[in-house]
Amino acid sequence: MKITEIEVEGYERVARAEDPETGLIAFIGVHNTTLGPALGGMRLWPYSSEDSALWDVKRLSRGMTFKSAVARTGLGGGKSVIMADPKSKTPELLQAMGRFVDAFGGKYITAEDVNIGIPDLLEVAKTTKHVTGLPRDQGGSGNPSPYTALGCFEGVKACAAEAWGSEDLTGKLVAIQGPGSVGLVLGQHLVKAGAKIVVADINKANVERAVKELGAAVVEPDDIYDLECDIYAPCALGATLNDETIPRLKCKIVAGAANNQLDDESRHADMLKEHGLIYAPDYVINAGGIINVSLELEPGGYNEAAAVARIRNIHEALQSIFETARERGISTHAAAQEVAQRNLAEAAATA
Ligand code: NAD
Repeated sequence: MKITEIEVEGYERVARAEDPETGLIAFIGVHNTTLGPALGGMRLWPYSSEDSALWDVKRLSRGMTFKSAVARTGLGGGKSVIMADPKSKTPELLQAMGRFVDAFGGKYITAEDVNIGIPDLLEVAKTTKHVTGLPRDQGGSGNPSPYTALGCFEGVKACAAEAWGSEDLTGKLVAIQGPGSVGLVLGQHLVKAGAKIVVADINKANVERAVKELGAAVVEPDDIYDLECDIYAPCALGATLNDETIPRLKCKIVAGAANNQLDDESRHADMLKEHGLIYAPDYVINAGGIINVSLELEPGGYNEAAAVARIRNIHEALQSIFETARERGISTHAAAQEVAQRNLAEAAATA
């Protein structure tokens, strides 16, 4: 395998691996390890070019730095991407990727991401020990989705308190875009809290499941933006908050699990604020999964009760972000960035 270092300003280490034997072409980005080793998922995607794969690994690894800095996981930001068609995934390719991860000597720790599930991680783990998110019976913390959903539920309650002065969700109408692994469990928490659910999904089976388990009403995927509701919970794709959709929203709160919800981070965060919407910054509200997995790296190993207690802190983290945003007249996204920068600066000063 040939590993080539790529100089990228503002990143601690970015490298490209090519392994002709298995067909692996991959990138690992370690953005920042001030707070600890860089943990972030491994994504497999049929990128159209190496430039787009490199762009993605840079964007995603930087995002992980901020997510972990706000969530105080004791971790830095990193990510890896494999350039491949999901159909061409082989055990050999994944084991080669494990060797690439191993070449970072623990500075980068991997986990699940798009097109990489637990069976794939088990292959990766044959060639490196720097893997998290393995099944519980193998010492891992297992599926992160229910923990991400729990964090989102805490976040929704913090948003409700900010919007209406009370966390009570009785009778509130929540529009869940994408009731998948996270969205469905978020819906279960919301129903228990007395909320009513509307869903939209391109996957019919997931829509049917939401109707059955949540008693949800259904709208067409594109109609969800026009729905009169209290809370819009984006739990599907990125970039759903953009020039076209924000003016259509008729809710008070935007709070959901999807990554990279803002098409243009600072501009669309400002636009949400101008429209009078309360926006829970995506990387703050969806940190439950990374918080859960971070417990694997603690001296005693994974402990679910400790994980849940920390995930519930997302509530307080958002409250304090809302307070800063309100007092300073800035967007909640800008306030979250400040918290991340401050936590990083404090750690750098004491290092
Ligand atoms: P998932 O694939 O299980 O669910 C996503 C759902 O969105 C699916 O039901 C899918 O059919 C639906 N969908 C896709 N395109 C759609 C569209 N145009 N309109 C409506 N629905 C659409 O994924 P997940 O694990 O539940 O993750 C959901 C989001 O949360 C993703 O953006 C993911 O990156 C983010 N996230 C997940 C976790 C986690 O622990 N799983 C952690 C942090 C962030």
